[in-house]
Amino acid sequence: MIITYDIVSDKEAKLKEAAKIACNFWNRFIIPKSPVVIRLGTFKSKGFVIARAYKPYSNKGVVFGPIEFNVKYLDLYDALDIAGTVIHEIGHTLGIGWNKWKDLFHRYTGEFLLQYWEEVPDLQYMTVETGFGPGTQYSHWDEKEFNLELMTGFKDPTEEVLPVTIAVMRLLGHTVIEELAKLTGLDELMEQAEGVVFSRSDDVEKIDKSHSEKTEIMEELYF
Ligand SMILES: [Zn+2]
Repeated sequence: MIITYDIVSDKEAKLKEAAKIACNFWNRFIIPKSPVVIRLGTFKSKGFVIARAYKPYSNKGVVFGPIEFNVKYLDLYDALDIAGTVIHEIGHTLGIGWNKWKDLFHRYTGEFLLQYWEEVPDLQYMTVETGFGPGTQYSHWDEKEFNLELMTGFKDPTEEVLPVTIAVMRLLGHTVIEELAKLTGLDELMEQAEGVVFSRSDDVEKIDKSHSEKTEIMEELYF
């Protein structure tokens, strides 16, 4: 079981480079319960949308997470900037914001149910975002409290990752193979991921990555 990518369209191989970093990031920490394919492509718009992520779908046991980037903005960002966004969206594809996640917390307060604290103790300190409406609400950490964290609903120029963002994956059915020891800058983690040589290519060969479905937009990122 692995997290991998499929490039539908690209610009100067930027999405491919970003996808590698993003997949390496997650493959370092977890083994997903089923194979995950992040499908990256481009779209053309004169508007201010940088990227849009579509609702994940599954086919023959493989979970697909489609993301498209506006070509208009691709020149402005380097692979690491794009990788940050892809890492966030993989977080959603792995379950943050849908399926089982929705049963983990109180809808009104955004606080996690007591019964999950034992398995992931840090959840007692976490709150889910309950504001900002569809796309942001219920599918991120609380923006006010966790502003710069990777899985808040708004992108920041510098972001950081809390250990609980990795640990919560356990409750979403995945296997955590490495804990994140402490709050760590996303840049630092991406640099480490960049240096990893992708060594499980045999596993990837066996996955049919080409399956495509059109699903509704889950989240949009604006300039
Ligand atoms: Zn998001």
